[in-house]
Amino acid sequence: MPKQTTNLDNQLYNYLLSASLREPEMLLQLRQETANHPRGGMQISPEQGQFMALLVELIGAKKTLEVGVFTGYSSLCIALALPADGKIIALDVSEEYTAIARRYWHKAGVADKIDLRLAPALETLDELLASGQAQTFDFAFIDADKENYDGYYERCLQLVRPGGLIAIDNVLWSGQVADSQIQDESTQAIRAINNKLHHDERVALSLVPIADGLTLALKRG
Ligand code: CA
Repeated sequence: MPKQTTNLDNQLYNYLLSASLREPEMLLQLRQETANHPRGGMQISPEQGQFMALLVELIGAKKTLEVGVFTGYSSLCIALALPADGKIIALDVSEEYTAIARRYWHKAGVADKIDLRLAPALETLDELLASGQAQTFDFAFIDADKENYDGYYERCLQLVRPGGLIAIDNVLWSGQVADSQIQDESTQAIRAINNKLHHDERVALSLVPIADGLTLALKRG
């Protein structure tokens, strides 16, 4: 048996989905609608959504944060996994993309769990800190502009409680992080956060090679 992570070809990936994906109808509809969107590639994969929903259940999360909403697939996964009194504070700058998200949150009956804040996320995160919400979040998902990943991470690390979990998306960046020829700003920013987290003793760390790479950082007490 190979010791490194199995490289999924289409056949095995389709098997994985057929053998394990539990995707409610509303999520399937949203995924199909977003697939036709010009920027549909930004949507997380369904098995990643299911994985994050499991993490949210695992840690008993109630109060969560999402940095980067797009059309709302990940927030809908998480909202469905949260208890009835669970909350997501969801940050984005796009009225257009989040209009799709809001439509599905309503259709799925979880709109009252999600507090959408349309503003630059660094500003909203600073407001949350200024209003005394440090160490009150159980879970944060970071999936927005890569150049600001470090700023998002540092603020989320203050906002989550000890034992709270931060998930950071696209950390393998379609393999570009491993190609030294590629030096654009987004790639460099992802390399920088990966390097920093590698040695960051404030968190327990795992880089999970699901979808485009998902780093899990568990805040230590
Ligand atoms: Ca992403």
